Amino acid sequence: MNLEGKLASVDSDALRDKEANSQRGRATTGTERSNDSKTMGNVKFVFDFEEGDGKNKQLLGGKGSGLVEMTQIGLPIPFGCVITTEACRQYYAKSKKLPDGLMAEVTKHMKRLENKTKKGFGNAENPLLVSVRSGAALSMPGMMDTILNLGLNDSVVEGLGKATKNRRFAYDAYRRFLQLFGKIALGVDESHFDNILETAKKQLGVEFDTDIETDNLLKICNEFKEVFKKEVGQEFPQDPWKQLQMAIEAVFRSWRGKRAIDYRREFKITPKMADGTAVNIVTMVFGNMGNDSATGVGFTRDPGIGENALFGEYLINAQGEDVVAGIRTPKPIAQLKKEMPQQYEEIEVIRQVLEQHFREVQDFEFTIERGKLYLLQTRNAKMNATASIKTSLDMVSEKLLTKEKALLRISPGHLEQIFHHQIDPTAHAEPVAEGIPASPGAAHGKVVFDADEAERRGRLGEAVILVREETKPEDIHGFFQARGILTSRGGKTSHAAVVARGMGKPCVVGCRDIQIQNNGKSALFKDQKIVAGDVITIDGATGSIYLGAVTTVDPQFGPELSTIFRWADDIRTLGVRANADTPEDATRAKKFGAEGIGLCRTERMFNSTDRLPIVREMILADSATERQKALDKLLPMQKNDFKQILKIMEGLPVTIRLLDPPLHEFLPSIESLLQEIERLKDVQQGLQQMEMISDSVKVSLEPSLQKYIPKVENVISELSEIKKDHPLDELIKKKEEILQKVRETAEVNPMLGHRGVRLGIKYPEIYRMQIRACLEASAELLNEGVDARPEIMVPQVVTSQELKRVRRWLEDIKQEVEIKHGVQLHIQFGTMIETVRACMRAGRLAQVTDFFSFGTNDLTQATFSFSREDAENKFLPLYNELKILIDNPFEVLDIKGVGRLMKITIDWGKKGNSKLKVGICGEHAGNPRSVEFFQALGLTYVSCSPYRVPIVRLVAAQARLREMMLTSAELNNPDYPFNVFS
Ligand code: PEP
Ligand code: MG
Repeated sequence: MNLEGKLASVDSDALRDKEANSQRGRATTGTERSNDSKTMGNVKFVFDFEEGDGKNKQLLGGKGSGLVEMTQIGLPIPFGCVITTEACRQYYAKSKKLPDGLMAEVTKHMKRLENKTKKGFGNAENPLLVSVRSGAALSMPGMMDTILNLGLNDSVVEGLGKATKNRRFAYDAYRRFLQLFGKIALGVDESHFDNILETAKKQLGVEFDTDIETDNLLKICNEFKEVFKKEVGQEFPQDPWKQLQMAIEAVFRSWRGKRAIDYRREFKITPKMADGTAVNIVTMVFGNMGNDSATGVGFTRDPGIGENALFGEYLINAQGEDVVAGIRTPKPIAQLKKEMPQQYEEIEVIRQVLEQHFREVQDFEFTIERGKLYLLQTRNAKMNATASIKTSLDMVSEKLLTKEKALLRISPGHLEQIFHHQIDPTAHAEPVAEGIPASPGAAHGKVVFDADEAERRGRLGEAVILVREETKPEDIHGFFQARGILTSRGGKTSHAAVVARGMGKPCVVGCRDIQIQNNGKSALFKDQKIVAGDVITIDGATGSIYLGAVTTVDPQFGPELSTIFRWADDIRTLGVRANADTPEDATRAKKFGAEGIGLCRTERMFNSTDRLPIVREMILADSATERQKALDKLLPMQKNDFKQILKIMEGLPVTIRLLDPPLHEFLPSIESLLQEIERLKDVQQGLQQMEMISDSVKVSLEPSLQKYIPKVENVISELSEIKKDHPLDELIKKKEEILQKVRETAEVNPMLGHRGVRLGIKYPEIYRMQIRACLEASAELLNEGVDARPEIMVPQVVTSQELKRVRRWLEDIKQEVEIKHGVQLHIQFGTMIETVRACMRAGRLAQVTDFFSFGTNDLTQATFSFSREDAENKFLPLYNELKILIDNPFEVLDIKGVGRLMKITIDWGKKGNSKLKVGICGEHAGNPRSVEFFQALGLTYVSCSPYRVPIVRLVAAQARLREMMLTSAELNNPDYPFNVFS
C-alpha cells in the first residue's frame, strides 16, 4: 500500500481530531489556544449537543464530545449543552472569573433546553432539573466534580413531587442535591451532612437511606440548609440560575483541585493533551422512579477476555451513585433480558451502533426512566492485555478497524503484562510491603541475602530471591541464578533495576518497608522478621511483596500475538536488534524476533569463574610476552563464545564490541585484598605459635602433660604439611604483589579514565586477541556452511586516529585468517558514539567506519556531566519533583540535548559516508517514547534487551504509523516534540 493509501486507512483519533480542527477553523495547539484567549469577544463558549463538533475532544472534553456525537447519530441522549474548555482556560486567565458573556450564552441554551423538554428551569409546576458534569479532553475518572439534580429549591421540590406523583422521590433528590451542592459549590465538609443522615437513621431505627420516609427526608433537607448557614455563613441559594452559575464555577475550580493536579502529574498529562475541563449541562433523567427504572454500566465487549458480547451491570430503581456506593450489589446485564427485555434489545442495538461509529470498544452509562432508555456517557473502554489483543484481531476481521489502527490501540504496557509471569488474580494475596516496580513479572523463592549464596542455591535448583540493600556489578552471578531481585534502596534505574530488566527478571527496588539487619543475615519486612530461607513472592509490575509463595500464571504467547507482530513487522521501518552476550540471550533474542545482535558486551565473557583467573593473569603480567601467554589461553574460549552466538544468529548481524570497562573491574578490591593478606598473616602466626606449644610441652616437667606429646606431634606434622603445600610466605607475597598492581591500576575516576579504546591502544594484544577470536570463529563457521555476519565495534572513541589503528589491526588479522582458512570474510567495522567529541567529529569517524551505534547511556552522562549513579541516588528525584527535569534522562532520552547531538552526528556522519548505518544500543532503545524519536531521526535499528524486543517491534510500527500521519508543516512546527532544533 502506498503512503496515501495507508494514511487513508489509518482511522486514528488524532487524524480525526485534526480534520475536526481544520474544518472548524479552531486551534488545538498550545500556541494557538493562547491566541484564542486574546480574541475573547467573538468566541462561542456553549454548544448544544445537536450543534457541537463531537470530534473535537480538546474543545468539548471527552464526555462532551461523546454526548455530542451520540446525539448526532440519533442515540437516545437527554437534551443538553456543553461549555467549552476554552471557557475554563479564560476563567483561569481572568483570575477565576467567568468570561464575559458566558452566563448570557448559557441562559440562551437553557431556554432552548426548556423548549425541547417542555419544562421550565425553576418552574415549580413542571420543573427542569439538570446535572452539571465535568469532562476534560482526557478521561480523569473521579478527579473532578459533578453536581446532580440542580434546579431544585423549596418550591420546585414540591412541584417535582406532584409532577412525578412521588413526593418521597422528590425529597430524596433534594437532599442528595443539597449535600452535593454544599460540598462542591460551597466547600462544606461532607461529614456534616453524613452525620445528620446517620443520626436520623439511628433515631428512626432504619438501616438504609431508602427506608427514610418523606417527612423525615424533608426534615433532613431543612437541617442540611442550616449547615450552609452555620458552616459557610450563607443561605442555600434558592434561585436555580444562581445555583447554575455557582456549579459551573465549582466544576472549573475542580480542574485545579488537588486530586486533579496529582492525577495529571502521575499520568503525565500535559496541557497539550488536556487543558481545562468542559462543563456538560444535561437534563436529569432518573433511574430511581420505580421498578420500571434502572441505571447501569455497559461495555460493548468483555473488557476482561475481549469476547464480542455485551458486558455490564445494572440496578433496578437506583441512581448511578448507588452503584458506586456499593449499597446494593448490581446484577449482571444478562439478567436485564428477563427483567426488561425491550430495553435489553435496545442496548444490544446501541452496542452495535456505538462500535460502528466509534470503531472502538465502548464503556457506556445508561439510565432507564420509567421504561425509557437514555445513554449518559460513552468512552473508549479500558481493557486488560488479553482483551486488547483479542479485540484488535476481531475488529480487524469484522472490518471495524484497519490493521494500522488495530496496532495503534495496543499499548506497549499491555505487552509487558503479557510477556511476564503475573500474580494469579484469583489468589487474593495481601502484600506485606511495597517498593518501586522496576522489572515486570512475578516470582517466588527463598530469601537469600548474598550473591554467592544465590548462585550456590540456584545451581542446586532452588528458587531464590536475592534480597539486598542495593546490588553491585560483582553480584551479577547471583542475578543469573535468582528468580527475582528485591532491594531496599535505589530507584528504577539503579544497578539492580537495570540488570534485572536486561535479564527479564522480576525486580522491586527502593522498598523502604524493608530493613536489612544482622549484617545482612536477616531483615525486617515492616515488623515481620525474615531470615534466609523464608519464602517470599515479589511482583515487579506493581512493586508488591508478599510472604509465602503466591501462585503465578504463565506468560501467554498465542497465535494472536504472532499475527500482531507480523502486522507490526510489515509496517515498521526501524530495525530491531537485541543486546545479548551469551548463547542463551542470543537464542531468546531470536525467539522474540530480533533481527540481529546490536551489542555483544565481550567483557561479560571475561567475568565467568573459569576465565577470571586468566584475565587477572593477563592484567597482572609484567611483560607483553607474559600477557600474550594469558591471552593465548583466552583466545579459544572467546572464539568458542563467538562461534556459538554467530551460529545461533546465522544470517543476521552480530555486533561484537571490543573490551570496554577499566581493567580494575576484573581485579579484587583493595579492601578485600588487605583483608585476605591479614587473614593469611594470622594463619602464619598461628602456625608458628603451635610449633612453640609443641616445644613447650616437651620440655615441661609436668608429667600429666607428657601423654599429649604424640598427639601434639601429630598435629604439628599435619600443620607442616599445610605449610609445605601452601607456602604462606609465597601466598602473602603474591597477594601483596596483586595489591600493588591494583593500587597502580586504580584511577580517581575510572569511568572517564583508562577504558574502552584507550585500553586497546595501550594493550593492542587484547583487542587483537578479540578480533582474531571473532574472525577465526566466523571463518570456521563459513567453512561449516554457516552464514556468520560479525561486526566489530569500538567503544569510547574520541578521534578517527583511534579507529584507524584498530581498523589496521582488523585488516591485518583478516588477511591472515582468510589465508589460513581459505575463505573471504565480510566484516563490518563501526564505532560506538558515546562521547561528545565523537559527535563533533562524526564526519571524520564516518570515513573510517561502516556504522555508528549510539551508546546513549554514556552519551547522556557525558552530555549532562552527570554520573548516573550519583544523579539517580542524590538529586534526580528532586529535579523531577521540582520539574527542573521532567523525566529521568537515563530512562527517557533527552531529546533537546542528547537528541540534538544525535541529529547533528547523523547529519555530519552521513556527509562523511553516505552509506553509513546508524543504530542505538543504550538502554533508551527499549523505551517506547524514545523509540518514537529514533524513528523520527531515521535510525537504521535500535538494539534493546531480548525481553523488550517484542514490545519494541510493536512500538516501532506505531512510531512509523504516527510519523506517516504527520504533515510536513507539523514536522517543522517548533511545537513538534521531536523537532530538536526548536
Ligand atoms: C552505552 O553507553 O549506552 C552502552 C551501550 O555501553 P555500556 O552501557 O556498556 O557502557
Ligand atoms: Mg557505554
